[in-house]
Amino acid sequence: MEIIIHRGAEEIGGSCVQIKTGQHSILIDAGLPLGETASTVNLATLNIDAVLISHPHQDHYGLIDDLAPSVPVYIGKIAGKLIAATRIFTGRTPLQNNFHYFKAGSSFEITPFRITPFLVDHSASDAFGFIVEADGQRMIYSGDFRAHGRKRKIFENFIKHPPQNIDLLLMEGTMMGRNGEKYQTEADIEAQMVNVLNDTVGAVFLVCSGQHIDRLCTAFRASRRSGRTFVVDIYTAWILQILSEHFDSTPHFTLKGIRVLARGASAKNHYLKIKDNSYFKQFINDIYKNENVITEAEIAATPHQYFIKNCRIDVLLKKLNQQQTGIIYSQWSGYLEKEKCKQFDWRLAALKSDSDVAFHHIHTSGHAFKQDLHRYLNAIKPKVVVPIHTECGDEYVKEFSSHHVKVIADGEVCQLVGGNNREVK
Ligand SMILES: [Zn+2]
Repeated sequence: MEIIIHRGAEEIGGSCVQIKTGQHSILIDAGLPLGETASTVNLATLNIDAVLISHPHQDHYGLIDDLAPSVPVYIGKIAGKLIAATRIFTGRTPLQNNFHYFKAGSSFEITPFRITPFLVDHSASDAFGFIVEADGQRMIYSGDFRAHGRKRKIFENFIKHPPQNIDLLLMEGTMMGRNGEKYQTEADIEAQMVNVLNDTVGAVFLVCSGQHIDRLCTAFRASRRSGRTFVVDIYTAWILQILSEHFDSTPHFTLKGIRVLARGASAKNHYLKIKDNSYFKQFINDIYKNENVITEAEIAATPHQYFIKNCRIDVLLKKLNQQQTGIIYSQWSGYLEKEKCKQFDWRLAALKSDSDVAFHHIHTSGHAFKQDLHRYLNAIKPKVVVPIHTECGDEYVKEFSSHHVKVIADGEVCQLVGGNNREVK
């Protein structure tokens, strides 16, 4: 096999990895870059047979719009639904790709490749790594993963029973170089949220991805522990609806202690996206039931009773006493720095510097800390490890000095030599 990292060898996000053998090739991830200046990858020139998408984050699937509709795209079924939801709520047309859905642990063929997806603990739902086999060789693409989330048992089981005889491992290293970040689990985040919810006189807002199910569970649990009601916007309610069809533990909006803010100016934008779509008929019926819906006026009357996940904080703040209000910012700090990120949020950046509102940054990464990267690597023991999804590939050489690290540049061809099923001469 030959591996070419078209993008991702030297940056976090925008991952595109081509695996070739003979005339055949597949692409693992087709991601949009996070930064402003990154170059683009022209998928049309790669002549690929199929695409595998590891998880529903834009920096891993954002380029599939550019694919010819005939190219098969393999993805987890829930991940496919989450991407479709993003398209609907951002007002974009549905994707026209030729989707195929895989299941964790079920191998499939894209001749001559054999692919085995395995579930990972990450900040996206339905996130996978892949074992790819061809030419008697085996490689692993780690995907984005961590070992400190609510699904950390998946990580522990994986390293207890690791895949054997791996010739090459492409291992993500987002956290390489982020040495100042403290090791915190979702339970730690929950405890810190409870403290803020208990100490704040008025309403508390939550800022996090509406698709980060671990964090939504954390927030719901913190709401309950502090005696507050968790309030979600229409989009988040829809994500909870999708996930509750697959996972019993999802905090669905019909549960006690959770309500949908589906009326008023803050809800208008989401409502307009789904009101004429018959696919949402039952959902709309459900969210507007008296026991599930809440209004802005109700929140304004007793703000201390609520923990609110809503993307229009600016609208809601006008109805509240700002000096009594808190904001829990629970995502990467880079989204508040214009130079770091395309998705820079100027409204939130303004709130952060507003002295009237108490702004709390309570977050832990969706990516593995260094000590867990060590555990992962020591379990798999690949013949070669190649850095990906990192700005600090060169640091792998020193950090993982007992392993054979090969740093390759974007666009460079990496040839796997030998193979486990071949006799080594
Ligand atoms: Zn990710």
